[in-house]
Amino acid sequence: MTISFITHPDCGLHEMGPHHPESPARLRAIQDRLLSSGLDMALRYYDAPLASRDQLCRVHDPEYVEQIFREVPEGERVWLDPDTCMNSHSLSAALRAAGAVVLGVDQVLSGQSRTAFCCVRPPGHHAERNRAMGFCIFNNIAVGAAHALHAHALQRVAIVDFDVHHGNGTEDIFRDVQEILFCSTFQHPFYPHTGANVVSEHIVNVPLPAGTDGRVFRAAVESHWLPRLEGFRPELILVSAGFDAHAEDDMSGLYLVEQDFAWVTRQIQAIADKYAQGRIVSTLEGGYALSALGRSVAAHLDALLG
Ligand SMILES: [Zn+2]
Repeated sequence: MTISFITHPDCGLHEMGPHHPESPARLRAIQDRLLSSGLDMALRYYDAPLASRDQLCRVHDPEYVEQIFREVPEGERVWLDPDTCMNSHSLSAALRAAGAVVLGVDQVLSGQSRTAFCCVRPPGHHAERNRAMGFCIFNNIAVGAAHALHAHALQRVAIVDFDVHHGNGTEDIFRDVQEILFCSTFQHPFYPHTGANVVSEHIVNVPLPAGTDGRVFRAAVESHWLPRLEGFRPELILVSAGFDAHAEDDMSGLYLVEQDFAWVTRQIQAIADKYAQGRIVSTLEGGYALSALGRSVAAHLDALLG
């Protein structure tokens, strides 16, 4: 069994300043770990295509998409929000990041692959319908989910998000979309200070207090996510795979370790095997402690390989 590993060199050229934690070094740390662990032998590498304007406009306002195309700077960076900026390569990176999830969805739904991992940046789950936010420009996983609904006529797509931050953008885009079940665990209270209140029957928000460890995280997933995923019977599962809840990641105050990411991956896979012919497309969100990020992605992919 192999995993489609979708990435692109442009994702390493988007750069937000020498001290910005969301840096090109993240992708290098992942690649280095996959090589040193031998896991790269089980991966099939694909270049991420550019997402089209039509694909983006299924989840973003056309005016917002046009704004991002206009903002590309010739020289210096342009700031989109206090945490997020663009250099001359950022538009291409953002289009590839969203396009990666579209390609992953096409591959698993055509049977070309059972699982795909999109090793891309910028991340996406904070990007709302009409604004960039929290290192995110386009909402990559939302673009992929909308593609599954509209281009492949799926009726039930689950998005699970274990990044330490709430996926406010994904919630913003899909809160009224019955075909999407969004399950999220996140530290709370914490950036972006959303998600504490359930806003829809199709949004399963599980706030976790600072200090939460793997035991509490696993219990929360078992009692809140899994019954809802079972009831929903997804035809496809998309994963917002953020690894910033790792104990070594000082971006957050949760204490997960790579075995917890492997465990949650196996739970997701069991649901996918039962209802979705094993079809999973996972995409990188956060994760800023480089060694922990590399080890966590390796554990995630190792679990997906079964
Ligand atoms: Zn995060």
